[in-house]
Parts: sequence; C-alpha cells; structure tokens
Amino acid sequence: MPRNCRPVHLPDRVPVPESEPVAGCDVCAALVRQREAARAVGDKSTLIDRNIELRRHPHAKAVRA
Ligand SMILES: [Zn+2]
Repeated sequence: MPRNCRPVHLPDRVPVPESEPVAGCDVCAALVRQREAARAVGDKSTLIDRNIELRRHPHAKAVRA
C-alpha cells in the first residue's frame, strides 16, 4: 500500500481516512486546499471536517458534455 512520507499518529479514536478529491470538481478542489491549509497549521478538527465534506458532498455521476 503506497504511502506518502508523513508522520503517522495512532489516536485512540478511529482516524478519518483521507478522502480523494474528484477530478474536475471545484468543490473538491476548494476542500482540498482548505484541508491542506488546516494540516499545515496542525488544525486537526478542520482537517477532519474537510475530509468528511469531501466524502459527503454530492457529485453528478453522469456529467457528459
Ligand atoms: Zn467534489
């Protein structure tokens, strides 16, 4: 399983997995920027919130030009 080199902490509670942004989605792109900004300052609660938003916000699955 490929991993980036970053510190791994093992908290007591179940960690929220990193959510993958969907290509071409502006919302995902914005959430990822906010998530990385939160990570940069060690704001774990915002980091988790953004991961949840990334996972939950809806995508139109059949978008065709
Ligand atoms: Zn999205």
